[in-house]
Amino acid sequence: MAKVMERLQQFGCALAYWEWQDFPPLPAKLGLDLIPDFSQGLVSIKAVTYHWSKHTLILRDLIERHAGGVRGGWDNLLAVISGGSSTPLIPKYVCETVLMDFDGLIQAQTGLGTAALIVMDKSTDIVRAIARLIEFYKHESCGQCTPCREGVDWMNKVMWRFVRGNAQVSEIDALWEISKQIEGHTICALGDGAAWPVQGLIRHFRPELEERMRQYHESKAQQASG
Ligand code: SF4
Repeated sequence: MAKVMERLQQFGCALAYWEWQDFPPLPAKLGLDLIPDFSQGLVSIKAVTYHWSKHTLILRDLIERHAGGVRGGWDNLLAVISGGSSTPLIPKYVCETVLMDFDGLIQAQTGLGTAALIVMDKSTDIVRAIARLIEFYKHESCGQCTPCREGVDWMNKVMWRFVRGNAQVSEIDALWEISKQIEGHTICALGDGAAWPVQGLIRHFRPELEERMRQYHESKAQQASG
């Protein structure tokens, strides 16, 4: 592990040197400062900072000009998760103008995270996509902290009911509250990583959740009366 971090730090230094020398710009410069934390026998990355200086991109340009574009064209974009699976999604209208840097993404109520984009077009079942992420975090939870162990398990169960619409609208607020009780109340960042995708979904796709519930209950009522 120490060797890996050493190599990553060297990589980050090389990029910083490139920038310092004012060499021709790289398509996207990414520098890493890794500060290993060996306290209590644990090896974790305590601080990771990315440097996109001078080359901050609009997210739309990053996708359209440098990454091959959205399948079916820009208008077919539904949402993007900007920082790996753990950051809140942002819908298309936000992606039009948001800057792919720390400040821009924080203003858009998401984050740079791992800077690994997940681009979802309109064929995506957005509720199912987020449910699948929460299932992953539930699987990965080590169970040490109660908010993560119990809360993520609970979110996972609720999210899969939301996928079918088998829930009450009031449960959307309950899910939001649970995610807030997990966020910032756990030992490691996995708790936050599980809470934020749910928050992004509720923030931007609440009408989709409510419509799914309406359709589910309507169909159940029709079956009962037929
Ligand atoms: S937040 Fe981290 S330490 Fe706590 S239970 Fe989840 S995975 Fe384990």
